[in-house]
Formats: sequence, structure tokens, C-alpha cells
Amino acid sequence: MKIGFIGLGIMGKPMAKNLLKAGHEVVAFDITKANVENVVAAGAKAGASAAAVAAECPVVITMLPNSPHVKTAVMGAGGVLEGAKAGTILIDMSSIAPLASQEIEKACAEKGVKMIDAPVSGGEPKAIDGTLAIMVGGDKAVYEEVKDLLLKMGATAVHCGTVGAGNTTKLANQIIVAVNIAAVAEAFTLAKKAGVDPNLVFDAIKGGLAGSTVMNAKAPMMIGGNFEPGFKIDLHIKDLSNALDTGHGVGAPLPLTAAVQEMFSTLHADDCGQNDHSALAKYYAKVSGTKIGK
Ligand code: NAD
Repeated sequence: MKIGFIGLGIMGKPMAKNLLKAGHEVVAFDITKANVENVVAAGAKAGASAAAVAAECPVVITMLPNSPHVKTAVMGAGGVLEGAKAGTILIDMSSIAPLASQEIEKACAEKGVKMIDAPVSGGEPKAIDGTLAIMVGGDKAVYEEVKDLLLKMGATAVHCGTVGAGNTTKLANQIIVAVNIAAVAEAFTLAKKAGVDPNLVFDAIKGGLAGSTVMNAKAPMMIGGNFEPGFKIDLHIKDLSNALDTGHGVGAPLPLTAAVQEMFSTLHADDCGQNDHSALAKYYAKVSGTKIGK
């Protein structure tokens, strides 16, 4: 099948390549030319615009930073809805505000385009392996139509409810990841300051109840002083901002989310916005005067 792929950043590039490996034709578009060239070198065809991609592909995937970028690429001038025919399926795999997903779906429905939201968890390593966790919102019949395609990029796909439910699930995921990283940074800073080697703390506790996928991925980065992204602090600020807005909208207080958001904001102001989110360790270094690692 011919698949349109719009947004070829850290995540979109390996996801598009996995579709190529699975034997699909991929027509790719990104406002950053070098990213298009990268997937063209792997066998994709370059599309001239989001509209041009949608004009030739029955299924179009978007993997963009946030709600405004998806709105521009879908509803803006030269966007997907300018090129798409009735019956086209749009799968937005970006992590955006659930209300924005609903707004975009409404605009799509007016043109007969079927849209679902399908954000992912797992980061670049799982995007490369094709083992992302995919959370879907929207018409179940559309989800069933594209489930096999999603599983070329992910290990699991779960239909979570109506449109926007995928992104609500992703916000829950992002709260758990952020608070878990902050807890790891806080605990390892305590250990270091109290004179216990963080490497030994990690070895001692990773198999117990405190162990987590987050700790396994992020504690070694904190200990090594390696904050290359991965997942950038600025993107996590975007997700927690969407979570706080959604929480305020539905009346769900999010005190832990708010606390970690302020830590991320401090790091952003310190020019660390492009660091991996494990750089929450730098926040604790600043307030404690002690670095976990190098
Ligand atoms: P990225 O910044 O690396 O890539 C985004 C790409 O979108 C860039 O290549 C940019 O040029 C392109 N773009 C922006 N506006 C555009 C437009 N109007 N038309 C076409 N292209 C446009 O971001 P990423 O890390 O690949 O993340 C993409 C989405 O996936 C985000 O919503 C992010 O929160 C989510 N996500 C990221 C990770 C991760 O670990 N990086 C993990 C899970 C989910």
C-alpha cells in the first residue's frame, strides 16, 4: 500500500523506514529537506507538500511536534485536506492535546476523510526496532482497517476509545514517565550526597519494586552524565502543558505534574531544553550542589 508520511524527525524517520522494510511504498514530506532526503535514501519518494502526499496516498500518517504543527499540516494552506480524497485515512501519531485531535477530526470528517489519533510511547530505540506501544482513539472500524499497518511500527496497539482517547492515554503515560524520572533523580541525588555510590544503588534496587523501564533507561544516563536526546525536555514541557490544560478542563488536579513541569521550566530557562528529559538530574544538582554522575 502507498503510505504518506509527514514529519520525519527523530521518530518519523525510523517509523517510515519500518514501513519501507515491510514492503510499503512511502511518500514523504517534511519542512526540513534533510529529513526527507534521509528517508528517500532508504527508498521513499519525496512529496512536494502535505497536500501532494495526500493526493496520491489512501493512508497518510503525521508525526509532528504538537497541536499547532498538526493543524497546519492538515488544515492549513497546502495541507493534507487540500489534497485528500473522501475515504482517505489520516493517522495522526503525534502527541498532541486531545481537544486538538477532536477539532482536526471534525475538519477531516467534513471532507469525508477518516481520522484517528494514534500517539506512541517507547522513544527512538523502539521506533527503530518497530516495537512502539501505540494508543489509539477514534472509530473502531477505521482502527481495525489500519491495525496491521500500525503493528509494522509497534509491538502493541490498543484502541482506547473515541477520537482524542489515544492522546489522553499518552498524557497519562507522560505524567508517569516525568514523575518517575524526577523520583529517580531525587533518590539518586540523596544516595550520592549521603555517600553511597549511585551505580550500587541502581544494581541493588533495579530488580525490586522501585525498578522500572524508566529507571533502566534513565539512571545510566544520569550516572554517565549523558543527556543527549532521546526525548527532549522541551517536548516533555509540551506534553505536561497539554496534561495540565486537560486536567484543568476536566477537573482533575495534577499536583505532581505541576511540580515536575516547574523543574522542566527551570531547566529550559537554563538552556537545557534540548537535553534529554533525564537532565532532571541537573535540576537536583543545582538545588543540592551534588551531581549524581560525571
Ligand atoms: P522532531 O522535532 O524530531 O520531529 C518533528 C518533525 O516535524 C521535524 O522533522 C520537523 O521539521 C517536522 N515538521 C514540523 N512542522 C511541520 C509541518 N508543518 N509540516 C511538515 N513537517 C513539519 O520530533 P520527534 O521527536 O520525532 O517527535 C514527534 C512527535 O512524537 C512529538 O509529538 C513527540 O512528543 C512524540 N514522541 C516523541 C518521542 C521521542 O522519544 N522523541 C517518543 C514518543 C513520542
